[in-house]
Amino acid sequence: MFTVTYHEGIVSMFDTNTIMTTDYIELENRYGAKNYKPLDVVLERGEGIWVWDVDGRRYLDFLSAYSAVNQGHAHPRILQALIDQAQKLPLTSRAFRNDQLPLLAQELCELTGYERMLPMNTGAEAVETALKLARKWGYKVKGVADGQAEIIACTGNFQGRTISIISFSDEPQYRDGFAPFTPGFKTVPFGDADALEAAITPNTVAFSVEPIQGEGGIIMPPAGYLQRVREICTRHNVLLIADEIQTGLGRTGKLLASQHENIRADIVTLGKALSGGFYPVSAVLADNAIMSMFKPGDHGSTFGGNPLGAAVAREALKVLVEEDMIDNAREQGDYLIGRLQRIESTHIKEVRGRGLLIGVELYPEAGGARRFCEALKDEGLLCKETHDHVIRFAPPLIITRQEIDWAIDRIERVLMMD
Ligand SMILES: *Cc1c(COP(=O)(O)O)cnc(C)c1O
Repeated sequence: MFTVTYHEGIVSMFDTNTIMTTDYIELENRYGAKNYKPLDVVLERGEGIWVWDVDGRRYLDFLSAYSAVNQGHAHPRILQALIDQAQKLPLTSRAFRNDQLPLLAQELCELTGYERMLPMNTGAEAVETALKLARKWGYKVKGVADGQAEIIACTGNFQGRTISIISFSDEPQYRDGFAPFTPGFKTVPFGDADALEAAITPNTVAFSVEPIQGEGGIIMPPAGYLQRVREICTRHNVLLIADEIQTGLGRTGKLLASQHENIRADIVTLGKALSGGFYPVSAVLADNAIMSMFKPGDHGSTFGGNPLGAAVAREALKVLVEEDMIDNAREQGDYLIGRLQRIESTHIKEVRGRGLLIGVELYPEAGGARRFCEALKDEGLLCKETHDHVIRFAPPLIITRQEIDWAIDRIERVLMMD
């Protein structure tokens, strides 16, 4: 156990040489809000696809911080960009201009093919920004009567945790106890284009969709869905918002997952890997006809577009492209999915995914995905269940075939247990 002593307001916990894994867990459980249930591994260092715990044990990271670390942990080039910019100028606020945001804006727009970007910090903020943008477009351009705008989302969505975003979640736990909710949203079944078309009214301003549902359990829509959705939205003058916060930036083997069906959304949200995991950086992309809805003062963020985040994001995008991580995600993803599909475990119901965003769904009789994640941790591989019966595999995009073989040995062993 540990002792806590107070020295004139400074809390001295204990000698960091003797603090143990169990102490960290106990401290967090005692002082932290319990809104997460993490695996009991206490990490202190990361490099590439590997992380180390406080006892020096090494693990292969098969989650990548929910796809925020696509470029691998502590990528040396992004780290250097962070250090250099931190030494020069971390924050200006948008009251003044800085010399990093304009370059990020240009580079991100040229890379993705959109005319404008709006920088925020977290994914949820990018989603909120997209919703506000779509509503404003609905009133100013589409001519919806004030206060009547409707936005359609999908069942099983996960787009963040703010009150407005959970207002269109259908996950009971995300909503329980947080009412009243923001009006103006409805949901249709994910993957059902006819249901979308039937739900559209003259007041519908946007349809918001994840090209593959990540938190929802790596749910893939039927082939052709996004193309049909694109066509329906265009025909009804409804904006298509693609939430690519998890699927974007190479995760599925393309820069954006929408590109697998050659569609172009009207508004795209990015986050997570936009900073390679160093710093919260998110962005909303749209063309001028939509982004011009925002006038000075309409929307903002103290930290959004700060020079530190912008410098980090610039380098995170460069290494993603220059080090060929997107093609690697496709190649290694195909290989990993193939290897997983050949595992003959009675627990496995389905292996699905695209690139390195992969879900292994277990039968309910398997007793839940959590115990397999815990067993994998003991084997030196870190991953996390999503919902009760799906294990998500999402290693950094720099992983090699040999490293996947190393992982498969362990995954196979664990999935063969009773
Ligand atoms: C993670 C995620 C978000 C929310 O991002 P935060 O940075 O956690 O706020 C939104 N949409 C999708 C698809 C996500 O995966």
